[in-house]
Amino acid sequence: MPDGPLFLFDRTRDANVFLRRAGMALPGSSEIEKYRDILECFGAVSRTAGTGETWGRIASGAAVPDEFTAVGRRDLAAILGRRLFLRSGAAFQMMSLCLDNKLCGRCGAAMEDHDKETARVCPGCGRVVFPSLAPAMIVAVERDGMILLGHNASFPSGRYSVLAGFVEPGETVEDAVIREVYEESRVRIKNILYVGSQPWPFPSSMMLGFRAEWESGEPCADGFELTDVRWFTPYDLPDLPQRISISRMLIDDWLRRVSADAPHG
Ligand SMILES: [Zn+2]
Repeated sequence: MPDGPLFLFDRTRDANVFLRRAGMALPGSSEIEKYRDILECFGAVSRTAGTGETWGRIASGAAVPDEFTAVGRRDLAAILGRRLFLRSGAAFQMMSLCLDNKLCGRCGAAMEDHDKETARVCPGCGRVVFPSLAPAMIVAVERDGMILLGHNASFPSGRYSVLAGFVEPGETVEDAVIREVYEESRVRIKNILYVGSQPWPFPSSMMLGFRAEWESGEPCADGFELTDVRWFTPYDLPDLPQRISISRMLIDDWLRRVSADAPHG
């Protein structure tokens, strides 16, 4: 097996990743023996792909060697690039699968890694648990060269983004796009187009990106999730999400199209 990267996670909620201060690089899987006594658990990122990638979780109270520094997972893309950012998310989700399924929720037996699937299996009752993935939609609503952006109560002050929300049981993703936009802004939309997707493992979302056209209604924040929602033009854009996020990609895609449409001179 090739020597893939080793993703060492701390115990914070979003799980920071440890990089070597020298060169800001990930350690390699072949080094796992060296760190075994500071890890509470570890495993392979994928049992099927054979990439040699591994993850480990630093034990409570363990002293992390001074050569490492902890970096937030959202910041990894800027340091390591998009591919390793995505792989760090896969590693995080495999760690979560393991930590959340030590014991079977049905019969209480100790669970094990599945030998063929990316899953945990119960040797007692045969129950198989796959990594959780929560589908969520995100949409750029457009109207005559303007885009609908909202300020979420959890955002830093002054930041706005396109609207997003989780798909509910029984809904199509398109239903969720229409419902969430109406719930959060009282705006009705039409002509929904799929643009692309992005895993967003904070902790387990799969973002499905769309664009849509305004049909009726004036934006009005729900005051609960969003504290403000309004139209912006390319000339008065607020603080936007970071470039690695699909929200920013949707905004940049809109910006490119309205800029191309703008009269020259
Ligand atoms: Zn069981």
